[in-house]
Amino acid sequence: MAPSVLIIDDSPDIHRLLAVRLRTEGVTLHHAMDSISGLELAAAVQPDLILLDLVMPGTGGLEVCRALKENPNTQDIPVIFLSGTTDPEVKVQGFDLGAIDYVTKPFEVCELRARVRSALRMKRAHDLLAARAFIDALTGLHNRAYFDRRLSDELAASRRYGRDVSLLMVDIDHFKQVNDLHGHPAGDRVLGSVGDALTQYSRETDVACRYGGEEFALILTETPEASALIRAERLLATFRSLPTPIRGQVLTCSIGLVATDTFASSDLEPAAFVAAADVALYSAKKLGRDRVCTASTLARSLSTAS
Ligand code: GH3
Ligand code: MG
Ligand code: MG
Repeated sequence: MAPSVLIIDDSPDIHRLLAVRLRTEGVTLHHAMDSISGLELAAAVQPDLILLDLVMPGTGGLEVCRALKENPNTQDIPVIFLSGTTDPEVKVQGFDLGAIDYVTKPFEVCELRARVRSALRMKRAHDLLAARAFIDALTGLHNRAYFDRRLSDELAASRRYGRDVSLLMVDIDHFKQVNDLHGHPAGDRVLGSVGDALTQYSRETDVACRYGGEEFALILTETPEASALIRAERLLATFRSLPTPIRGQVLTCSIGLVATDTFASSDLEPAAFVAAADVALYSAKKLGRDRVCTASTLARSLSTAS
């Protein structure tokens, strides 16, 4: 996708000029003629770079920059100031507010393009690092930090819009034996192949994560318990067909399932949701492994027992 650049400037001439000058850079341009719509557009389109006029009627560029940097939604977007003034004090103020560069009008075309390219390169590197912080290195799946964020978001959406969300906690059976008998590198390969199987099995709307150790979590969005149960059974069959370090031996996993449509409490808190899936997983282990247990069945059997 082409990088996008938002221009916030009150002069239509500057917008026209920049559109011409930046044509060769292959960027998508967004235009705002004043501070307020500039701030709104920045939050809405999440551009890769903002070219911000320093002097505008009403809220000036420095104030806009401050507002951009104070908003978590826009604070990572690099800002280049555009200004007619060469006053070093103003430049210092701009840099201190978090701008990464400064271009003086009238523009020196080659320099303007080079500064835009450089800012976009930095933004790409920043985005890549930010994405990597949420990836598990061994399996390539999302990591625990990402899982925590997404589950919280999905449960909030479920509370607000009544959407069904299911969570599968998947734990490899007797995994310690693989390490003990064949060494940690063999164990790592098994983790990798379980991760690959989860990736292949996942739909675009699923969120597959390595929860930690030999435990994985799969968030199924827009999925009630009945459908999640069918998918969990299919997943167990997929795991059984995976290659293992010992020929003839079958790799199995156990799954704990919890779903918003059958969740025991109306309070959809992530910690309680995960705890319910964990209890169901523990029950699957106790009942002999290689199976799925649901939190709702456990809750029902507990209430009939009491
Ligand atoms: P159960 O069927 O009850 O789940 O038994 P288990 O052996 O799978 O579970 P247990 O919790 O006893 O052991 C998990 C093992 O996973 C112990 C730990 O050394 C191993 N493990 C955790 N992370 C990694 C990893 O990144 N690589 C490898 N090779 N092993 C790991
Ligand atoms: Mg295990
Ligand atoms: Mg475990």
